[in-house]
Amino acid sequence: MNLRRQEDQRYLLSESVVINKQRLLSDLNAISRIGLGDHGSVTRLVFSIKELRSRQLLIHLMTQAGLKVHVDRIGNIFGRLNGANPKAAAVLAGSHLDSVRQGGKFDGPVGVIGALEAVRTLKDNRVPLPCPVEVVCFVGEESSRFGFSTLGSSLLAGQVRMEDLANAVDAHGTKLEDVLASMGVYRDNLPSLRRDPNSVKAYLELHIEQGPVLEAKKKKIGIVTAIAAPTRLRVIFTGQADHSGTTPMEMRKDALVAAAQLITYIEELCSKYSAMEKGRVVGTVGAMKIEPGVINAIPGKAELSVDIRSISGEAKARVARLVQSRAREIAATRNITVEILPIRSEEPVALDESLLPLIKEICEGKRVPYEIMPSGAGHDAMQMAKITRAGMIFVPSKKGISHSPLEWTDPEEICLGAQILLETMVRVAYEQS
Ligand SMILES: [Zn+2]
Repeated sequence: MNLRRQEDQRYLLSESVVINKQRLLSDLNAISRIGLGDHGSVTRLVFSIKELRSRQLLIHLMTQAGLKVHVDRIGNIFGRLNGANPKAAAVLAGSHLDSVRQGGKFDGPVGVIGALEAVRTLKDNRVPLPCPVEVVCFVGEESSRFGFSTLGSSLLAGQVRMEDLANAVDAHGTKLEDVLASMGVYRDNLPSLRRDPNSVKAYLELHIEQGPVLEAKKKKIGIVTAIAAPTRLRVIFTGQADHSGTTPMEMRKDALVAAAQLITYIEELCSKYSAMEKGRVVGTVGAMKIEPGVINAIPGKAELSVDIRSISGEAKARVARLVQSRAREIAATRNITVEILPIRSEEPVALDESLLPLIKEICEGKRVPYEIMPSGAGHDAMQMAKITRAGMIFVPSKKGISHSPLEWTDPEEICLGAQILLETMVRVAYEQS
């Protein structure tokens, strides 16, 4: 028997139920060859031919595995294996196949192919399940093309209004709204993409960490507590462009020096918050535009992007307020103007508290060193958490690098992550609801 019931009513999988590492890694490689570019980079932007092909390959793999495949109107894919009660709420596991421009091969596919391998292994070993399990692949998790992240999972969770899509345009001027319309998705039927929360028992996502913590702490698995959300601002300082030779220092209105002061302030402020156990906040100025931007002119205009992230909404709001008031203070002292435009502010999401001890127990049972940690990056799990219990399992990223062709996770660690995902899915399937 590959599943036995313990005295405490919990079910234990037999040790022979193990994923097929070779099959998992070779499917992961097959996906990564779609959109392969320079220096081993991968580009599969949402709704591009490359992304479509990766989804077609997934459908093929799901069909080959004997799963019941369903594709919704925008291309979210579900591969279902029924349990004893086909009408029971299903345990979902998955991630995304789209990528950033010139990204790596693991961000997303590890979770989709990992979940597929877990479900295939359950089927191959005829593990009895009380409820269905489903592999899910969401479209458009990355914001690289339209500036809109977690599109598929947001729609599934009923978190998107048509107004939210209005400003989403790609670099070629293609509107996300128009792309959706071409697939028959309009304002009226947007809510029909929602999934009935009663049909989902839990959502689990295996993902690469995309940060340096696990590697630095020599841990194999990360169990995620919460997902940080960004507050983003555009700050525009406007001073006066002048001749760099003739304008005395005390008569200048240099917008760039004001911006530099703000950038330093953000670093100092967030360094204090970053060290905090609770209410940890990180802040980044990642882009800046300077006008006129020439060697012999005082910068008259400096526009900078501010990205503030935390798993505490309160701490994040406090930092955002401090940054804004400091920007105004700097402008006032320098007798220049500042404009602050909020871009998108999202609430951080706590993952389910009952799934965490369950994953922890599985790691402990296997003597796998784990770390309980927040996620600094956004994931589909944060949308799914709005309609069901959501949990995430991280595997280490070499040097913490991601969104780059240098992104790397040890194949053994990917396989370990998929095995832990499998065992978690079975435990959740057997939980009394
Ligand atoms: Zn991802």
